[in-house]
Amino acid sequence: MNQLIEYNLREEQEKGTKFREVYQLQTHLVDEPGVDPLGNKNRRICRYCLRGADSTRFKDDAHVIPQAIGGQHILDLWECDDCNHRFSKYETALAAYAGALRSLTGTRGANGIPTYKNPADGTVIRSADNKIVVRAGSDESAYMTEDRSGIRLELPRESYVPLRAFKSIARIGYAMIREDEWGDFEETRKWLLQDGQREGRSISCILFWISVSTKTKFRREASLYTKKNRFAPDSYPYKVLVLRYGIMQYQLAIPYFADEVLLGASSTHLTMLPFPLLFETQPDGPVDIDSYVTGRDDLTSMDKKKGEIQRLSYDSDQPAARVDQPADLVVHNVDESNPE
Ligand SMILES: [Zn+2]
Repeated sequence: MNQLIEYNLREEQEKGTKFREVYQLQTHLVDEPGVDPLGNKNRRICRYCLRGADSTRFKDDAHVIPQAIGGQHILDLWECDDCNHRFSKYETALAAYAGALRSLTGTRGANGIPTYKNPADGTVIRSADNKIVVRAGSDESAYMTEDRSGIRLELPRESYVPLRAFKSIARIGYAMIREDEWGDFEETRKWLLQDGQREGRSISCILFWISVSTKTKFRREASLYTKKNRFAPDSYPYKVLVLRYGIMQYQLAIPYFADEVLLGASSTHLTMLPFPLLFETQPDGPVDIDSYVTGRDDLTSMDKKKGEIQRLSYDSDQPAARVDQPADLVVHNVDESNPE
């Protein structure tokens, strides 16, 4: 599943021409104060276990964009407490997968901006006095670029289960699917409820990503795209989620669309179009993309990954300044990355 087409890749990523030809935007959510919740408080039903208020509870705040990557404001009224708790292990995996990036970009979780520590070499990334401070444990794991405008990091992630991290993001897309479409994604619903792959229906879970190593930071927003022609004779997935936060953009296919399951395509034939960068959805208008890095991570496995190295680069408005001890670098002010 999800082979990336290599034609005019850079141009496609910047303009997304082909993507726009094939897909239309279905739902666009921005994580900001006052945003409408998903679901309907007068008619409670859990979109995952399909139970109503007579047989389950809806007391907890269920965040559509996980708090682990800074989600705060978009609530799902159609996620019951049982399912919310069930998904917390997915969110734990996502937090580990996001790794040092959360600390570096000042992404607030349920308990504020997390501190990253690498016990192996003593690298610490933390927030202090509204600034992000990096203490490099060794020259190899963290260093500044020559002009002191950016920092490059190679740091291990905490152990995590890849498939759970993938589900934590795929769940966002499933939550954005309309009620009248649920029937087409029945297998997706079961896959989300079950901690593992579907027996006999295992799929490849590929997460495509772009990291913008510029001063730009994305709003937290999720966009669900649907193919304009459901029956087009091509191998593009029917629904695609694009998720942005911090300096990351993720893209993935929502798995188990009924037509694709029927055709057996979910195991073999799906092709992902290169990302559109879609910077025009940012409040300040299109962003000058001077440099970005793209990649794809295979998150199919339920086997725990240990000590996986995450490569991060971060460019700052001002040259990173050394403070206190020689090893401490102030990368940027937190308020710049997280206006609320
Ligand atoms: Zn439920």
